[in-house]
Amino acid sequence: MALMEIVEYPDKRLKQRSEPVEAVTDETRQLARDMAETMYHVGGIGLAAIQVGVPLRMLVCDVAPPEEPRCLLTLINPEILKSEGEVCSEEGCLSVPGSFEEVKRAARVTVRYLDLAGNAQSIEADGLLSICLQHEIDHLNGVLFIDRLSSLKRKLAVRRTQRHQQERDQQATLKQEA
Ligand code: ZN
Repeated sequence: MALMEIVEYPDKRLKQRSEPVEAVTDETRQLARDMAETMYHVGGIGLAAIQVGVPLRMLVCDVAPPEEPRCLLTLINPEILKSEGEVCSEEGCLSVPGSFEEVKRAARVTVRYLDLAGNAQSIEADGLLSICLQHEIDHLNGVLFIDRLSSLKRKLAVRRTQRHQQERDQQATLKQEA
């Protein structure tokens, strides 16, 4: 098991379209474990492979509240088959730290994917899971949640993230010097 480094805005890799996983192998399963460990370590509810620099169509998510048992889902080559309704809710992203904005998405989705054994599965999701899956599948297509905002809101979100990154990096430098 290994923690992986999270790719952050404005890294160009976040804009690229990820490639399908051709075969689910031990390597795929190891990557899924490392992604899950990284997601839990940073307290996220979802992580796409490109967010750790791997351009493959794969994501992990766990939207269970912290006090409840873990409920990890790994989706390989996920595809939205059906989406219904509309909701607006606040989102953040491990790759765009420090910014949270309301994003409009489908309320319910049906997603087809391969599981870690390489079997075809499908899941019907609503609520937080539906939003999380749409957010992560966007990553596989090179789309960030800030790309779904108006240009003004997007600019503000980018500025907040840049400020967050600067302050964090300054604190890290101070710690090193201390
Ligand atoms: Zn994200």
